[in-house]
Amino acid sequence: MIPLAVPNLCGNEARYLQECIDTTMVSTVGEFVSRFEESVAAAAGSKSAVAMASGTCGLHLALRAVGVGRDDLVVTPDFTFVASANAVAHCGAMPWLMDVDADSWCLDTVLLAGTLRAETEKRRDGLFHRLSGQRVAAILPVYTLGCPADMDSITAIAAEFGLPVVADAAAALGATYKGRPTGDMGADLSVFSFNGNKTVTAGGGGIVAGHNPDLINTVRHLSTTARVGADYTHDQVGFNYRMTNLQAAVGLAQMEMLDEMVAAKRRICERYNAAFSDLAGIRAFPQPEWAESACWFSGIALEDARPGLLTAVHGELRDAGIDARPFWQPMHHQRPFAEAPTALTCVSESLKDAILTLPCSTNLDDATQTRVIEAVRASFINNGIG
Ligand SMILES: *Cc1c(COP(=O)(O)O)cnc(C)c1O
Repeated sequence: MIPLAVPNLCGNEARYLQECIDTTMVSTVGEFVSRFEESVAAAAGSKSAVAMASGTCGLHLALRAVGVGRDDLVVTPDFTFVASANAVAHCGAMPWLMDVDADSWCLDTVLLAGTLRAETEKRRDGLFHRLSGQRVAAILPVYTLGCPADMDSITAIAAEFGLPVVADAAAALGATYKGRPTGDMGADLSVFSFNGNKTVTAGGGGIVAGHNPDLINTVRHLSTTARVGADYTHDQVGFNYRMTNLQAAVGLAQMEMLDEMVAAKRRICERYNAAFSDLAGIRAFPQPEWAESACWFSGIALEDARPGLLTAVHGELRDAGIDARPFWQPMHHQRPFAEAPTALTCVSESLKDAILTLPCSTNLDDATQTRVIEAVRASFINNGIG
C-alpha cells in the first residue's frame, strides 16, 4: 500500500532519543523541550512558544488563556477537523459554526462580519449573541490544509468587536500570509500540531506560540497543574498537558528539516495539480493569492460531488494499493455539535464527499507519485470524469 502521509524520520531522531535515554531525561523536564519550543517559535516568527502533549491540548489552553469559559460561544469554521470544535467544548463553551468561502476553504470573512453585525450586541461586559444571550468570547480561524485564512480581514473584524483570535494553525507551519510567517499573521495565539500525520512530527504533540508573554505564561501555567512555586501548591484547576522530552527530541530533529519537508510537500502538490489540470470536473486545493500554503495534504476536489463517485474512486484506488482518503465532514453534521448555532452558505455542505486526499508523505518519490497519478486518472476516466 502506498500510504497517505507517514512520518519521514531521516534526521537526528534516533540520536536525540538515545540521548534522552542515556541521561534518563524522558519526562516533561529536559533540554529538548526548551530547544523544541525555541525552534518552533523561530520558525513561526513568534516571540515565544510552549510545548503541549497535542495540538488539541494546545487549542484548549490557548482558548482558556484568552478568556473563553463556560457557556461562551467561539466562532469556529464549520469545515474543520473535529479537534477545533472539541477544544471549544473542553472549555465548557460552544462553537458558533460559520461557513468557509469557496476559494480558500477558510472562514468566510464577509459572512463573519455580516453575521456578527446582524446577530450580536455590545454590552458593558462583552459581546453577546442576541438570540441565545450567550457571550461571544473569541474567533478561532483554521488554516485549512496548511493554507492561512485571510487574517488581515479577520483581525480587523476581531478588533471591531473586541474579540481575541486564536488560530488553529495545526498543519500550517511553513506557510506564509502576505509574506509573514505562521505565528505572525495577527492572531493572539497560534496553535500547531506535531501529530504523526503532520508535515513534521513529534510522534504526538503541539505548540502554542505568540508574541504576548503573559498569554504564553498562562498556557504554560495551566499545562503544568497550575503549580505555584516548587511545592504542592496550585492556584486553580490545572492540567497535565506538557510534552515529554522524548517527544521533543523527535520534534527537534524534525524541525531541523522543516524547510526541506515543506518544500517536498509543495513539490508533491504542484505535481498532482499539473497532472490533473486537464481533467474537467476536478479542481486543485485552494491557493488564495494572499497565502503561500504549507501544502500539508495534496489531493483533488470534485466540482460536483455526484453521489457515490468519490466512494467508487476511493475503492478502485485502494484495490490498486493506493491509500487515498475522503476528508473532513462539516461540524454541523457531527452529533456533539448538531445543536450549535450556525451561519452557513452551503460551501461546507458542497465540500462534503467532494475531497479526496492522495499520498503525500515527504519521502514520496517521483516514480511512486507517477503510479498514483496514473491510477487516479484511470479511475476518474473510468467513472466518467475528465
Ligand atoms: C491535526 C489537527 C488538529 C489536532 O492536532 P492533534 O495534535 O492531533 O491534537 C487540530 N486542528 C486541525 C485543523 C488539524 O489538522
